[in-house]
Amino acid sequence: KLYNEVQELKGNIRVYCRIRPFLRGQNSKLTTIDYIGENGELVLVNPSRQGKDSHRMFKFNKVFGPTASQAQVFLDIQPLIRSVLDGYNVCIFAYGQTGSGKTFTMSGPNISSEEEWGVNYRALSDLFHMSHVRRNAFTYEVGVQMVEIYNEQVRDLLSNNGSQKRYPCIIIGFKMINAKWLKFWVILLIKVNRFLNLRTLGIWSISQPHGLVVPDASMFIVKSTSDVLELMQFGQTNRAVGSTALNERSSRSHSILTVHVRGVDLKTGSTSRGCLHLIDLAGSERVDRSKATGDRLKEAQHINKSLSALGDVIFALSQKSAHVPYRNSKLTQVLQSSLGGQAKTLMFVQVNPDVESCSETLSTLMFAERVS
Ligand code: ADP
Ligand code: MG
Repeated sequence: KLYNEVQELKGNIRVYCRIRPFLRGQNSKLTTIDYIGENGELVLVNPSRQGKDSHRMFKFNKVFGPTASQAQVFLDIQPLIRSVLDGYNVCIFAYGQTGSGKTFTMSGPNISSEEEWGVNYRALSDLFHMSHVRRNAFTYEVGVQMVEIYNEQVRDLLSNNGSQKRYPCIIIGFKMINAKWLKFWVILLIKVNRFLNLRTLGIWSISQPHGLVVPDASMFIVKSTSDVLELMQFGQTNRAVGSTALNERSSRSHSILTVHVRGVDLKTGSTSRGCLHLIDLAGSERVDRSKATGDRLKEAQHINKSLSALGDVIFALSQKSAHVPYRNSKLTQVLQSSLGGQAKTLMFVQVNPDVESCSETLSTLMFAERVS
């Protein structure tokens, strides 16, 4: 196999590929992964083709195989996360078809197991840890925003309005004298109350070039990992409102967790602002135009548009092009100040190794190859 057509990896953009393991019930012999190299090489095999055409080589900054743990993955991105404390803007994306492990990488499958935590909880807990380590030299303040982009509209997932709107629902819920529902609403009520007890941000100006996201999205100051867990669980509940199948909906919207960090150097009094965006993108699978109609087709078109706009922006940045087309989608508009310039970008390209996903995997990897 030839590995010499490897592209130089440029600038502040990094691409990591992560291959998820086969899940129980999947036949692990039917894989599209032929080879994973130590230095980011990945060879894909298409079993339905013969000869030379059946294999294709890709090169990324790194490839994580199916046995890579959440901790191993995090270790690799830790320096990037910590640069936020020094005033850098960082974007971390998870890209791939639905079911390829985007949410697993970004959030993890199960909040209650620390070992399985994904990038977002680990990142926040590491930032708290570092701010403790550096407490004699710096003080840091950490604020969190959470938004969702669905059909090119931005929704604030931490909005208080959202929770107030739910009080009437709770009353209706209590009217249904049904043990199962009662339990559900009581838990929701407790959660909402706990959430409202968290302090809302005593606004530090977010209208600064550094860290502008969605100026009107609520921001909460967080002091500990447990504040973050609570807030994010609340955000997730908010995301589910109006949707019967959360998974369905979440695979068709982009979710963005933004962490703002303001540091004050205790010696000089100078301040720094850094901003970390953690983005679980909508599923990149192509929707069959002949089958999708109505809302489904509209969703698919919006997703298509925003993912290709993201690809175009990162491509333009990697080419050091003078014109970067930020304005073509809500996603790139929202992230504009954190893409390009001194900002650092990391894309996790998620792969489902199943043969049935072969053509989606190929288009995912080609997307990634273009931006790396
Ligand atoms: P996506 O968000 O891209 O739709 P998910 O993160 O929901 O995909 O992953 C699909 C399934 O695969 C989930 O059951 C998830 O727990 C599992 N999974 C994904 N990545 C891994 C991994 N690295 N190790 C173990 N299970 C994984
Ligand atoms: Mg997901």
